[in-house]
Amino acid sequence: MQAQIVLLPGDGIGPEIVEQAVRVLRAVGEKFGHTFAFDAQLLGGASIDACGVPLTDEALAACNAADAVLMGAVGGPKWDGVEPARRPEKGLLALRKGMGVFANLRPCTIHRQLAGACPLRPDILSEPIDILMLRELTGDIYFGKRSRSADRAYATDEMAYSREEVSRLARIGFENAMKRRKRLCSVDKANVLECSRLWRETVQEMAKEYPEVDVTYMYVDNAAMQLILHPAQFDVMITGNLFGDILSDESAAIAGSLGMMPSASLGAGTRGLYEPIHGSAPDIAGKDLANPLGTILSAAMLLRHSLGLEAEAAAIENAVEKVLDAGYRTADIWSEGCTKIGCAQMGEQVAMQI
Ligand code: NAD
Repeated sequence: MQAQIVLLPGDGIGPEIVEQAVRVLRAVGEKFGHTFAFDAQLLGGASIDACGVPLTDEALAACNAADAVLMGAVGGPKWDGVEPARRPEKGLLALRKGMGVFANLRPCTIHRQLAGACPLRPDILSEPIDILMLRELTGDIYFGKRSRSADRAYATDEMAYSREEVSRLARIGFENAMKRRKRLCSVDKANVLECSRLWRETVQEMAKEYPEVDVTYMYVDNAAMQLILHPAQFDVMITGNLFGDILSDESAAIAGSLGMMPSASLGAGTRGLYEPIHGSAPDIAGKDLANPLGTILSAAMLLRHSLGLEAEAAAIENAVEKVLDAGYRTADIWSEGCTKIGCAQMGEQVAMQI
C-alpha cells in the first residue's frame, strides 16, 4: 500500500519523539512492503515563530489531503506570553475542528513490565486490563452557550447534545467493540441530565444493530469508582466530552506512565489525528531523554484505524513489548536492574524488533 502521512512534530520534545515514530513506520514499511510518504508541517509554537499563527491554512489543507496525521506535542514557556487567540494550543484546537475529528480514542493497558508504576494494588491487577476509552470531542458543555450576570455573581454553561452527535460516536464504539472483546459500557448521568437521557436512548437504539455486543450502562460517578476498583471489567467505554475528559485522565493515571500512552482522534472517514497524550515536556526537550513509546504506539493506532493495517499495528505493539521485556527503559520508566537508554536508542530498539 501507498499512504501519505502528514507529520506535525510541534514543539519541545515533539520533533524528537516523532522522528522515532517515523523510524519505526519506515521499518514497518520495509518489512511489510508498504510505501509511506511523509510530509512535515508546522504546528504550535514552531508555526507561530515561522508564520505568525499556530496553524496555517496550508498546513491544515495538507492534513485534510493526507491519509493520516501524526503529531508530537505543542506549547512551551517561550509562547506563554502570546495573546490567547494565537497561542500554540489554539493551533491544536483549530486542527481538531478543521479535520472534523469528533471521537477521541485512548487505549488504557498496563504493560506488565511496568506494573510497578500503576498506583493500584497488585490484586486488582491480577486480571489483564485492556480498555479502549472513547470520548466525544466536539460537543457537550465545552461548546455550549455561556453567560455571566452583570454583577459577575452568577454564571451558566449550557450542556447540549444532538442525537446525531451521540450516534456517530456510539457507532465508532460499537465497531471497535466488535473487533475486540464485544463489550461496551456507555457512561452517562441519565438519572439527572436530559442530555444523558438522549445519550442513553441513542445507544440503546443502536445496540439493536449489534446483538453480539454485551452493552452495559453506568452512571459516571459509579464508572469513576469502578475504574479503580475493578478496571478489568471494561472493554470499550463510550462517553461525552466532559465525563470523558475526566475518565480518560483517570485511566491514564491507572496505566501509570504518561510517556507510554497513545491516542487517536477520528472523524467520519478513516482519516485521523494521532498523538501521545502528554505535552511538549519543555524541561527535557533536546536532551534525548523523552520516551517516544507513546508516539510509536500512536503510529500503531494510525496503521490500525486509518490504514486498516492490523497485522502491522500489532507488529509495532509486539515490538514495544519485546523491548520492554529486554529491560530497555527511558529515564521516566526506568527502575533498578533495567538498562537506561535515550529517546533515539528506544526508537532504534523498537525498529530493530520489527
Ligand atoms: P507535559 O506532559 O509536557 O509534562 C509533564 C511531565 O511529564 C514533565 O515532567 C515531562 O518531562 C514529563 N513527560 C511528558 N512527556 C514525556 C515523555 N514522552 N517522556 C518523558 N517524560 C515526559 O505537561 P506540562 O509540563 O503540563 O506541559 C508542557 C507544555 O505542553 C505546556 O505548554 C502545555 O500547554 C503543553 N501541552 C500540550 C499538549 C498537547 O500538545 N497535546 C498536551 C498537554 C500539555
